[in-house]
Amino acid sequence: MDPIPVIGENASQFPMVPSFMQQPVGEARFLTDEMLAGLARWLRAAGYDTVQAPAGGPDRALVALAVDEERLLLTRDRAILDRRQAVGVAVVLAGEGLDAWAAELAALGVDWRLAPFTRCLVCNMALVDAPAAVPLPAGAHPPVRWCPVCRKPYWRGGHVRRMEARLIRWGGASVP
Ligand SMILES: [Zn+2]
Repeated sequence: MDPIPVIGENASQFPMVPSFMQQPVGEARFLTDEMLAGLARWLRAAGYDTVQAPAGGPDRALVALAVDEERLLLTRDRAILDRRQAVGVAVVLAGEGLDAWAAELAALGVDWRLAPFTRCLVCNMALVDAPAAVPLPAGAHPPVRWCPVCRKPYWRGGHVRRMEARLIRWGGASVP
């Protein structure tokens, strides 16, 4: 059996990456386990299609969902790699905290500046221009995008700018 990719443990294994990451990187899609909800929001902020797994589901269902939807499963649960179906599908993030995980994913080809703020951080839906009739919260200024599902508006205010700065710092695929 092929060796199992475990990021951060054995850098000499690169570039042995899960098969889904061999697609053009902009087409990579992710499934995050319940411990990585914060990371899911950041992947969405970078523009990646990212689904957050429901809490409490069995590993088997998690892996099956990743396979069905051709998503790369990001997890902190090393035991998931005991499942044969998880090979080439699951990536175990070995570090501690967002900055470490961001670096591990950048090493796999994730571009943290892919398409910033094109997806809803909450539900993953692609953002669209806010209809003119949508009442905006105080402090919002155009251009305003919004999520057609959550109806949450996004604009380039302080919070978005701080997140953008972090995405730029994390860099990734196209960093010279
Ligand atoms: Zn939404």
